[in-house]
Amino acid sequence: MLAYTYVKPGKFELQEKPKPGLKDSRDAIVRVTLGSICTSDLHIKHGSVPRAVPGVTVGHEMVGVVEDVGEDVIGIKPGDRVTVNVETFCGECFFCRRGCVNNCMDPNGGWALGCRIDGGQAEYVRVPYADQGLNRIPDTVSDEQALFVGDILATGFWSVRISEITSEDTILIIGAGPTGICTLLCALLKNPRRIIVCEQSPERIQFLQEHYPDILVTTPEHCEEFVRKNSDHGGADVVLEVAGSENTFRLAWKCARPNAIVTIVALYDKPQILPLPDMYGKNLIFKTGGVDGCNCAEILRLIESGRIDTAPLITHRFSLNEIEKAYRIFENREDGVIKVAIRSV
Ligand SMILES: [Zn+2]
Ligand SMILES: [Zn+2]
Repeated sequence: MLAYTYVKPGKFELQEKPKPGLKDSRDAIVRVTLGSICTSDLHIKHGSVPRAVPGVTVGHEMVGVVEDVGEDVIGIKPGDRVTVNVETFCGECFFCRRGCVNNCMDPNGGWALGCRIDGGQAEYVRVPYADQGLNRIPDTVSDEQALFVGDILATGFWSVRISEITSEDTILIIGAGPTGICTLLCALLKNPRRIIVCEQSPERIQFLQEHYPDILVTTPEHCEEFVRKNSDHGGADVVLEVAGSENTFRLAWKCARPNAIVTIVALYDKPQILPLPDMYGKNLIFKTGGVDGCNCAEILRLIESGRIDTAPLITHRFSLNEIEKAYRIFENREDGVIKVAIRSV
C-alpha cells in the first residue's frame, strides 16, 4: 500500500509498504477513506518533534472503515465507519480514568499515531486500543464532516472545556488557523457574551468575516487596545492562545484581565518566557497542554445535530497520489487554504 513516510528531518516521501496487520487483541485495522494534514505533521517534517521516529508513516487526522478487529475489541466491528483519535490511550490507567488520556501510561500513550507508530496518510492504519481510539460516525454525518473529530476539533473542544467559559465572558481566541477556528466553533456552544478573534492573515480574517459574521476580529498589533475597549473588566475573561507565534504567548497574558484563565493550546517551536514580575498581582490562571481527546462521541453527536460544522474548513481536496502537492499548498498557505482533505482510495 502507499504510505507517506517521514524519512529524515526535512524529508517526507510516498513509499510502498506492506499493509498493516493486527498486533494485539485490542487493535483494529482501518481502511482510510479520508485524511488530512495537520500543522503537527509539519513540525515532524521540520525536525521539531524529537520523539518522531524516522521511517514512520505520518498522518493522524483520518476517518475510514474498519476492516478487521482483534478478539478483545467489543465496541467496534468490521464495516463500521469511524473517526480515528490522534491519541492512543488504554482507558484503564490512573490518567485515563481521570479523562487525562494525553498522559496515558501505556508506552504508546498520547500522540503516537503518525509520530511513533504508523499513522494514516496511507491506505490502511493499525489503531491500538480500538475501543478507545475509534468512534462510530452516525449515518447522517459524512466523512468530510467527521474528518477533524479526532484531532483539531477534539483540541478545540477540550480547550474550551478546561477554560470554564460562562455566558458573562468575553473570550479572546488568538489565531484563526484550523485549530483556532475549531476552538471558535466550540466556544460558540458556550454562548459567551462576546468572542474576539485575533488573526494576522487577511485571507483568514476574510474567512472569519464570511462564515462567522457575529465574531469580533482584530489583528495582533491592535489586539490589546481592541480587547480593552471591547470587554467589561479591562481585558478578556478567558484567553485561548492557539497561534503559537513569536509574540502570541505574551499577547495572551497581556490581553487577559486580572484573575482570567489563559489556556495555551499552541505548540511552540521555542521556549517561552513567563515574566512573573511583570504579571505580579494579575493573579492569572494558566492552563497548558496537549488535547485530552476523550470527547469524540459527544463531538460527533454535536455534528449530527448541526451544532458544529467544520465542513467550510476543507478548502482543497487531493488523492493520496497527490499528497506532495497537498503538503506544498498547506505548508506555504497557498491559494487561501485552510485544510486539505486527502482521499486514500
Ligand atoms: Zn494534529
Ligand atoms: Zn491509559
